[in-house]
Amino acid sequence: MEPPRLPPMMFDRIAILDWSAASTPTPARPSPDAIWIGVAGAGESYHRTRAQAMARLGELVEQTLARNERLLIGADFPFGYPAGLAAALTGQPLALALWDWLADRAEDAPDNRNNRFALANDINARFAGTGPFWGRPATLQLPDLPQKGRDRHGHPFPERRAVEVLVPTAQPCWKLFTTGSVGSQALLGIPALARLRRAFPGQIAVWPFEPWESAPIVLAEVYPSLLAPQVRHAMTVDPAAIKDAVQVRLLANALALLDREAALAPLLFPDAPPDVLAEQGWILGAGHEAALRRAALATSPLIPPRLRNDCFAMPQGVDWVPVDTALARLRDGLSVVASTENLPLAQGQGRVLAADVSALRANPPSPNAAVDGYGFAHAATGMGVQRLPLATGRAAAGVPFDGSVPHGSALRILTGAILPPGVDTVVLEEDTATDGHTVAFDGPLRAHANTRRAGEDVAMGATALPRGHRLRAPDLALLTAVGVTDVLAYRPLRVGVLSTGDEIVPAPPALPHQIFDANRPMLLAMLRDWGHQPIDLGHVGDDRRRLAARLDRAAARCDAVMTSGGASAGDEDHLARLLADRGVLSSWRIAMKPGRPLALAMWYGVPVFGLPGNPVAAFVCALIFARPALSLMAGAGWCVPQGFTVPAAFAKSKKAGRREYLRARLDDHGHAQVYASEGSGRISGLAWATGLVELPDAAIEVAAGDPVQFLPYAGFGLSG
Ligand code: AMP
Ligand code: MG
Repeated sequence: MEPPRLPPMMFDRIAILDWSAASTPTPARPSPDAIWIGVAGAGESYHRTRAQAMARLGELVEQTLARNERLLIGADFPFGYPAGLAAALTGQPLALALWDWLADRAEDAPDNRNNRFALANDINARFAGTGPFWGRPATLQLPDLPQKGRDRHGHPFPERRAVEVLVPTAQPCWKLFTTGSVGSQALLGIPALARLRRAFPGQIAVWPFEPWESAPIVLAEVYPSLLAPQVRHAMTVDPAAIKDAVQVRLLANALALLDREAALAPLLFPDAPPDVLAEQGWILGAGHEAALRRAALATSPLIPPRLRNDCFAMPQGVDWVPVDTALARLRDGLSVVASTENLPLAQGQGRVLAADVSALRANPPSPNAAVDGYGFAHAATGMGVQRLPLATGRAAAGVPFDGSVPHGSALRILTGAILPPGVDTVVLEEDTATDGHTVAFDGPLRAHANTRRAGEDVAMGATALPRGHRLRAPDLALLTAVGVTDVLAYRPLRVGVLSTGDEIVPAPPALPHQIFDANRPMLLAMLRDWGHQPIDLGHVGDDRRRLAARLDRAAARCDAVMTSGGASAGDEDHLARLLADRGVLSSWRIAMKPGRPLALAMWYGVPVFGLPGNPVAAFVCALIFARPALSLMAGAGWCVPQGFTVPAAFAKSKKAGRREYLRARLDDHGHAQVYASEGSGRISGLAWATGLVELPDAAIEVAAGDPVQFLPYAGFGLSG
């Protein structure tokens, strides 16, 4: 459908309803998984019952009509069902006919008691087979409503609606029970909205089932999870917020902003057949996630701009940018974008701490013996040979001594045993003689010899590990020892990898003019090594429209995107031109070899690293620029490659003005060899090498034996 000409701002108010199928009133205190109504620009309200929420919507409708204004109400449950149900129940393939049919049969009391399971059972009973509805409490005896989805068979309806192909995370309408099942919400929500529509005849239109362009009140199905990344991020900024409240607020504000920008029309005219829309409905905003996300980012005071749109800006007139200047700009412009989650320590390997972790217990928790030997009070001993009577019993790790040791006596004590009262010093077994009644050794002994103080390793309450630290095996030992079982960690950064270029093919066969996509598997593997979540965005040819669509989809799923190819300023550099037109592009000509320009852009709030197409250049640019930038965005802080100085096993003369990275490895003497050819098309040199030799920006004459900086791949966080 072509969007017709519409007034630039269509709605004076936008409300979002987060519905609930609860069977009892929800708690008096505002709680999650209850009903929330958000009004753009006016905050949100909490409702304990569906009846109260509908009363509030009725007020909104009345106010709107009284002021001669327009109101859009978005509700977060399906407004239609998969193909066939409406016609099977009402004789017409129209969702609105089903609305009336359901409104006549659904019962929903002011205290939330309702007949939704019985109603679904009754619908199932009308059809052959078992289903389509399923899910109920085990205690409810309803012969035609199976408890499990897999117990269904032979019923005549598809599992999903057409729109759910675009929004695969949406739950199917048939599932009625347990968390996240929208089926129950629709069975109670559709009748509630149908009654609202009846209460204001001729004033309320339901999108996209009936003409709505001139109705004062429009009802539309929405899916707040389209903004899941923004909601998650808002929750990290304000962890005490209630997710449902954040969702309705963000979505209402985002839609209102799009409306103000005259950008709501594309969402309201989905590209789907009219009969599908009239029967199954549609989700407002499906397929337009990038626009919604951008609007949510732009409106929410809860979300500090994750990254400024000009975060990659370079001062005008700068021609060749030195590597260090480029790195400093990146470091200043970027900030953490990863959201956080609590997770069991056992699942923490490789994850980045989002908060300092304090010791919940001292290590060691109590003073104990560091050796096997005999313990006593130091004050009772002195110079020369000491003979102490042995107390009966012993202290061992895990089996503490039950009692106290008399002053002047000694007790057999083993490594790790808690020092019992009366013991502050231990003599090493090898330094003693004993007949079983007395122990003898040479004094003097240092007070507290061979003992460990409580908390000498880590005091209780001390910071065991700082925020930004990536958890490795030894860190799991440390945190476990100090009683930590859960950590607040950043979620892994989702980084998309997209290859571009008409000549690229993913796999054999290839025509003579085609080449295989070498960059994508390389970049995906690098991301994995760096602890991010790689997202394979595939390959797209040099086609502006498809490139834009791919970036839109990427922006909805990714925290950052790495592309390769098409990043220069030439005729065939479609990506650079698209980014310049529709995103915010800074093309950096970095004084570096290999390198050529690096395109850095924002695509609806998501940073795009436009790497060169050449695999050698793509690899080196990813190591030098993308790695520290992504590390910062992931919460692990800026990082510098770890290298060391070794003698050169080569000679080279280099002019001033750019930094060079040579593919290198160490020979048997620990000297750096470099790959025979510096040609940037030589991928074999990347595989031959175990690291890079970094030659400084200034001119340099390297002779064999001169010190050079070797940066092993491992120092860039790549696995061996
Ligand atoms: P471009 O940056 O698009 O000008 O590409 C520079 C060179 O890298 C060209 O020879 C491309 O064919 C090559 N190239 C681009 N993308 C890839 C890729 N994904 N895998 C291997 N080579 C590529
Ligand atoms: Mg190209």
